[in-house]
Amino acid sequence: MKKDDCIFCKLANGDIPTNTIYEDDDFRVFLDAAPVTRGHCLIVPKEHFDSLEQLDDKVAAKVMPLARKMMKLLKDKLGWDGFNIIQNNGKVAGQTVFHFHTHLIPRYNDDGQDLVMKPMPLKDGDIETVLNEII
Ligand code: AMP
Ligand code: ZN
Repeated sequence: MKKDDCIFCKLANGDIPTNTIYEDDDFRVFLDAAPVTRGHCLIVPKEHFDSLEQLDDKVAAKVMPLARKMMKLLKDKLGWDGFNIIQNNGKVAGQTVFHFHTHLIPRYNDDGQDLVMKPMPLKDGDIETVLNEII
């Protein structure tokens, strides 16, 4: 299903032009309009899902194989030195477009980008406490 007021539905389905590097029945992969590195692109399903929580399992199962295929393409063409895959869900987690998508971010030794996670402050017992809440 498509969502009428969703920009990524329009981009993924070709209703608005994109800088597409790959397309199949389920997905379009296109260059991000505000890239954080050279070749930063997005895997976007043609069907609308707000985020990973709503994503269909069958579509979800195709995302990582496609990410690997795009990694290989980008390695051949751009020769990256490392690679980040980022997928944001919810405003607090940095999601700004509420149509599920996966960022593919080639990294280069000299790219000057900083996507490193910062450990939170931790007290004795915090890890055991959260473990006991989860299991
Ligand atoms: P997120 O913050 O994870 O929701 O990522 C949304 C991404 O979509 C950002 O990196 C934007 O730069 C990108 N973006 C938004 N609009 C467009 C567009 N029209 N074409 C390409 N990329 C876009
Ligand atoms: Zn959509």
